[in-house]
Formats: sequence, C-alpha cells, structure tokens
Amino acid sequence: MAENCRRCHGWLLSPRSIAEGIGPTCAVRERAEQRAAAADKLTLFDIAA
Ligand SMILES: [Zn+2]
Repeated sequence: MAENCRRCHGWLLSPRSIAEGIGPTCAVRERAEQRAAAADKLTLFDIAA
C-alpha cells in the first residue's frame, strides 16, 4: 500500500488519500491538469475540423 503521494511524495494522512495514492491538494491539481489536457484535445480537434 502506498503511503506517500505519487505526485509530491508527501505523507498521505487520510485513508482515502492512501487508497487513491495521492493527497487531496495534488488530486485537485491532477484533475485540473486533466481538464486542461482535455481542453487542448478539443482545441486541436476544432482546428483539425
Ligand atoms: Zn502530493
């Protein structure tokens, strides 16, 4: 079981964070990056179309 955040390698303090392998702050950042990546794909799609 991972006990450190996979993103910043800080200690995970809650059972949920441990289960997800990432701390809450990093989870928010990761979701924001995924949204940004999805937006980039949509933009590229729009350009191609
Ligand atoms: Zn982290």
